[in-house]
Amino acid sequence: MKKSILYSLLLCVSIFIVNSCQTSEGEAFVKGSADHIRKIATAVDDQMLINADNNQGNWLSYGRNYQEDRYSKLDQITKSNVDQLNLAWAKELNVSKGLQATPLVVDGVMFFSGPFNQVWAMDARTGEQIWYLDPQFDHDKNINLCCGFTNRGLAMYKGNLFMGMLDGRLISIDAADGSINWDIMTVPKGERYSITGAPRIVDGKVIIGNGGAELGARGYVTAYDTETGDQEWRFYTVPGDPSKPYEHPDLEEAAKTWNGDEYWKQGGGGTVWDAMAYDPELNLLYIGVGNGAHWDREWRSPGGGDNLYLSSIVALNPDDGSYQWHYQTTPGDSWDYTATQHIILADIEIDGAERKVLMQAPKNGYFYVIDRTNGEYISADNFVYQNWTTGMDENGRPIEAPGARYLDGQTHWIAPSSHGGHNWPPMTYNHETGLVYIPTANQAEPFVRTKSALDPGALGGGFEANVSLNNKLYWPAVMDSDPAAPPPMSQSGRLVAWNPVTQKEEWGVDQVGIYNGGLLSTTTGLLIQGDAEGMFSIRNIDNGNVLKQFDLRSGIVGSPITYEVDGEQYITILVGWGGYLAKLHKHVGRIHTGTVYTFKLNGTGTFPEKLPPHEQPLTAMRDDASHEAIGEGFNVFSRFCISCHGMPGTGHTATPDLARSTDAVYNNYNDIIINGTLSELGMPAMKGLITEDEIKDLKSFIFYSAEAVGDGMDPMAYITSIAEKQYAADQAAVIKD
Ligand code: CA
Repeated sequence: MKKSILYSLLLCVSIFIVNSCQTSEGEAFVKGSADHIRKIATAVDDQMLINADNNQGNWLSYGRNYQEDRYSKLDQITKSNVDQLNLAWAKELNVSKGLQATPLVVDGVMFFSGPFNQVWAMDARTGEQIWYLDPQFDHDKNINLCCGFTNRGLAMYKGNLFMGMLDGRLISIDAADGSINWDIMTVPKGERYSITGAPRIVDGKVIIGNGGAELGARGYVTAYDTETGDQEWRFYTVPGDPSKPYEHPDLEEAAKTWNGDEYWKQGGGGTVWDAMAYDPELNLLYIGVGNGAHWDREWRSPGGGDNLYLSSIVALNPDDGSYQWHYQTTPGDSWDYTATQHIILADIEIDGAERKVLMQAPKNGYFYVIDRTNGEYISADNFVYQNWTTGMDENGRPIEAPGARYLDGQTHWIAPSSHGGHNWPPMTYNHETGLVYIPTANQAEPFVRTKSALDPGALGGGFEANVSLNNKLYWPAVMDSDPAAPPPMSQSGRLVAWNPVTQKEEWGVDQVGIYNGGLLSTTTGLLIQGDAEGMFSIRNIDNGNVLKQFDLRSGIVGSPITYEVDGEQYITILVGWGGYLAKLHKHVGRIHTGTVYTFKLNGTGTFPEKLPPHEQPLTAMRDDASHEAIGEGFNVFSRFCISCHGMPGTGHTATPDLARSTDAVYNNYNDIIINGTLSELGMPAMKGLITEDEIKDLKSFIFYSAEAVGDGMDPMAYITSIAEKQYAADQAAVIKD
């Protein structure tokens, strides 16, 4: 039976020119029919995933193969004919919020996830929808999300798709018709976990991590049986309550690197929210582990310690989840320097010997080359400006710069910022050039140790418990900055071609937006990426020169794929501005509905209409609030609002600019904010977190901001004015106490 399915798939793949597949039994299926999808998706088994490089027409898993190199050997589209590349089809999805996912394609059928965990199946040649699934994300859980309503991808195995959900569920979906096979909860009830990352499949198990370090989560990854959803194993990345038995033996060792009780009471962090990779020969699963909670190690683990396995790459045996080795990129992390970023496996020649390596460019700004058989450090160097270290010692342990831990009560501008020299947008490793291409960001951020961050009363289980959100504007940040640091407000994205052998940049291209989409490279020397400005660029991989470019209307945070159907090579990118990275940069004048764009040579598709920029007018509402009330309003705003909405009046995000709402919205603020009457749109209910008095102050701050922006107040004068008001509010609070 199994053999005949495989045989029919081979026939299917070889008959590119016809619109149907002939099975060994002689049945003919129309491409995209449930019977066809059942056949082709059922054939995606362990061997097919392991041999993904022998099957270039498909894109079967998140990173294209287990090495996650996002490199394609399809060679129809080349440097010399790319000028003929044009739109094959575009499909508008009628969704706002971000589209971050990497689609999957098998034998001409495309599957992808979008905002609020919606899933689509489409004909990859035409964009014609085959099925659509809304698995009903629980909007009451919006408050658990750090970074928007996005999802980065699906996994496929033996006829089914798998997706981790924002509310912590993992679901198995029948690829043939979009029906749900099983639906399980992977996180503890009532705790603030969420899932945005793509599951990975290893030997009949679906492996999923989660996010929420800043919100009190204790990190872990879990393996579930793909058929039944039964749990197979769970690996915790940080130790828990020491009065209870350790869940696995290595946690006892890890616990020796932690101090005090604060960490396990708070969860400790270490969430595995993005990268994994698998080496079938070594039978090792690599996971990237996130930052500590709280950020400041002195608060999380008083007296120090490396705090294993925070900010580490950990190798596990996927059969039972047992620990094999680890490499910690940022010992005793105090800067949100996660090691959850993209992990690529490759075999490369170093000093005359072929090495099985693992490569990662985590948030801390260093590019690492590690021996993936045993975790041995090979080399590292910084791929963006950094000032938190003075270099690496011979074992790959960072030598911290004086003051980097900001324990002296002064503000220190640290680079990279907590957003990272590189965040989750995937890199690509090109086998022809031997280079890794990285979407990088140059940015510094002020870190300071505050009394309020150390006051247990300040712990709301949220971001406010951290010490660096730049939320006290009156601190003399600039004066205390490292003279070598870049100007704190200057920031830029840069597409970098990195040589992993010499640890040097071969070339780089500066980009307007700081955070741009993921990368794809081909054997024909193309480097493909969408950026925050909405431009989709096909570059010459040798120098970064743009060979062909399309304006896709909205900022791009997704990652492109390429595949082949009926003998034609296609390139697809999902476009929809949103997610965490989107809050940091104004992309274009207008955010269009989420859209899938697919290109091929001599495509004749019609681009959807680009609408003119539009901005709601600034509100004319005013009140006569005191300076202290406006300052307190800014405190409230910086705790609850800024991470999604950005500064009022600037229109910098995919979520509404809070200075440009209608009067009705302001008049219903209590209901909207406390009771969540707009939760369907993504605005969470904050009952118990925020008071009506605080909302009143928040409105005063917003009205003041609308007035300042409307009057054309100089941005520095505005910030200074807010800083003075915030200082007044904090002084008044001290006097009240
Ligand atoms: Ca984090």
